Amino acid sequence: MSLPARLIEGYEAFRSGRLAAEQDRYRELAEQGQSPEIMVIGCCDSRVSPEVIFDARPGELFVVRNVANLVPPYSPDNNYHGVSAALEFAVGALGVKHIVVLGHARCGGVRAFAEDSAPLSPGDFIGKWMSLIAPAAEKLGPCGDPPSADYLARLEQASVINTLGNLLTFPRLGKLAACGRVALHGAYFAVATGELLILDPQSGQFVPAASGAVRA
Ligand SMILES: [Zn+2]
Repeated sequence: MSLPARLIEGYEAFRSGRLAAEQDRYRELAEQGQSPEIMVIGCCDSRVSPEVIFDARPGELFVVRNVANLVPPYSPDNNYHGVSAALEFAVGALGVKHIVVLGHARCGGVRAFAEDSAPLSPGDFIGKWMSLIAPAAEKLGPCGDPPSADYLARLEQASVINTLGNLLTFPRLGKLAACGRVALHGAYFAVATGELLILDPQSGQFVPAASGAVRA
């Protein structure tokens, strides 16, 4: 089976556009290696690409995406830990200075948790994975049946805060964050309007990142 035509067309557009314009940068990155200062932990959702939202150039963002932008607590054992491995590399080898947990509106993973959705397969990988947000949900209280849009948005944002707490359970990162060498940030992308909200650590509220209304 051949690669979808959409991807071939997209690559052609990339080659004649962005690659042509940034060829030198790609060569430089190939020779010198990457040294991004920012790690983004985002959701797999096709609407919330961090590189698009932050208008990133090659080499600028070290991105990990998973269902509902989660990070499990530090748990060294014999299981496979993809997010922890990426975090270990970002902090220990790349020396990133910022880690951004990017949540978003209308997250299917968060909805699945709130609605207690039936497993999609016998493995119930989503159910197990999404149980990571149980501590955030417990803090919010009853969710209603079905959960309201307002509740889901609050849970999506509470989950970002919970994930920031999980990041601090990684001993090395916890130390670096405590002494200000790595800054942790929470953000939330409202898909329909394109508005980006940033977590204000003082108030615990998500506030607009940019002044002025986003043009519809
Ligand atoms: Zn999502």
